[in-house]
Amino acid sequence: MASATLTVQSARDMVLERCQRVGKQTVESVSLLESLHRVLAENVTLDCDQPPFNRSMRDGFALRAEDVQATPVSLRCIGEVKAGEMTKRSLSTGEAFHIMTGAPVPEGANAVVMLEHTERPTDSLVRILKPATNGENIAARGSERRSGDMVIQAGRRISTFEMAILASTGKAKVQVYRRPVVGILATGDELVEVEAVPRAGEIRNSNSYSLYGQVLKSGGIPRLLETAKDNLPDLRRQIQRGLESDILLISGGVSMGKYDLVEPVFQELGMTVHFESVSMRPGKPTVFATWKDRCVFGLPGNPLSTFVAFELFVRPVLRALQELPAADLPVVEGQLRADVFERSGRSAFLPARVSCASGILEISPVNWKGSADVFGAAESNGLLIIPAGTSPLKRGTTVSALLLEELGYSGEVRL
Ligand code: AMP
Ligand code: MG
Repeated sequence: MASATLTVQSARDMVLERCQRVGKQTVESVSLLESLHRVLAENVTLDCDQPPFNRSMRDGFALRAEDVQATPVSLRCIGEVKAGEMTKRSLSTGEAFHIMTGAPVPEGANAVVMLEHTERPTDSLVRILKPATNGENIAARGSERRSGDMVIQAGRRISTFEMAILASTGKAKVQVYRRPVVGILATGDELVEVEAVPRAGEIRNSNSYSLYGQVLKSGGIPRLLETAKDNLPDLRRQIQRGLESDILLISGGVSMGKYDLVEPVFQELGMTVHFESVSMRPGKPTVFATWKDRCVFGLPGNPLSTFVAFELFVRPVLRALQELPAADLPVVEGQLRADVFERSGRSAFLPARVSCASGILEISPVNWKGSADVFGAAESNGLLIIPAGTSPLKRGTTVSALLLEELGYSGEVRL
C-alpha cells in the first residue's frame, strides 16, 4: 500500500480512520483535582438551583424598595444576616436587616442598599441615603441556572471554569476519558543518553525528550523506552515492549539506509503497514502501521522531521482518542516576510515565527539549517505551510501557517 505521492491530507485521513477503528477509548473516574485538563466523559447537571437562595450581592441593608423611594429615610434595623445563615424572621414595612455579601435575603425584603449609601445613627436605626429598585443587589434563586439544567456536556476539556462548575455541582469524582499511553522508542547506534559525553561519531538522543513534551501537550501519557540499537534482535525486543502501549512512536530507522531496519521488523511481527512515505518536507519517510489494536508510527530520525510528523499525524490521533476534535491547532493567514523557494516539490512545513504587527499577522521563516537544526527551529512558534507546486513565493504574499504556540505580541497591553 506504499505510495511516494501520498498527500499529507490523505495520510492524515488514513491515520484517523484507522485509529478510530483500533482505539476504543475507555472512561475512568478521577478526583476533581486530577480532572484538570482531562476530557469530560459525562454530562454534568445541577443538583440545585444556582444561586440556591436569594443571595445578597453586597454588604449593606436588606429592605423593601417601596420604603426608600424618598430619601433620606430612617428604617428600624431589626437584626443581622451573615453568609451561611438563614433568618426565620421576615421583614415588614419600615424595617431593615443588616446583611452581608453572600447571605440569604430575608423574607419580605426585595432590595439591598449598599453600606456606602447608609448611615447608622444608633444600633436600632439605619438612615438610607439613596432610593432602591425592586431586586437591586439581589441574585435571585435560580437566576443563573435551574436544578436539573445541564451545565457541561461530555467532550469538554476541563479548564478553570469547568473546575469551578464541577465543584459547585458536587462532583468530587469526575468521569473522564482515559489518556492514551504512548511508548517512545529512539533507535540508532549513534545515540547516547543525556548524561553521557558523546564519543566520536555519537550524538545525544534528543528526540525522546521532544516527543515526551509533545505527547504530554497532546494529553497522552509518555513512556520512554530504552534506546534500540540498529540491529534486528534489539529492535524486535524493544518494539515488542513498545507494543504494550496504546500507541508506539519510533524515531529513526525508517529511511533508505542499510541499517534502517524498523520496517523489516514491522513485517516480521506481522504488522499492517498503511503507508511508508508522505509527500512532505520534512518528514517524507514517515511510516504508519497497525498491530492488533495498537497504532505504530515510524518517525524519521531528524529532530525536525520527528517533530513535524508528530504534529501532523500523531497529535490528531491522541486527541481523537480522548474524544476531542482531531484538528485543533489554528491555521492562520499572514504576510510572508521573506522570499521562499521550496525546491522539494512536496508540501513543506517550515519552522516560522508568526507575529502580529499593528493588527496584521506576519509570517517569517526562521533561520534554520535543515531538519536536524533544533536550535534554529526553537525560534519558531508555527509552521509555514507551502502546498506542493506553489513555490517560489515572494515576500508580501499571503501564506498560511499552523500555529503551534501562542502569538508573540510586540505591543504592550495598557490597562
Ligand atoms: P535516521 O532516520 O535513523 O536515518 O536518522 C536521521 C538523522 O537523525 C541522523 O542524523 C540521526 O543521527 C538523527 N537522529 C536519529 N535519532 C535521533 C534522536 N533520537 N535524537 C537526535 N537525533 C537523532
Ligand atoms: Mg538511524
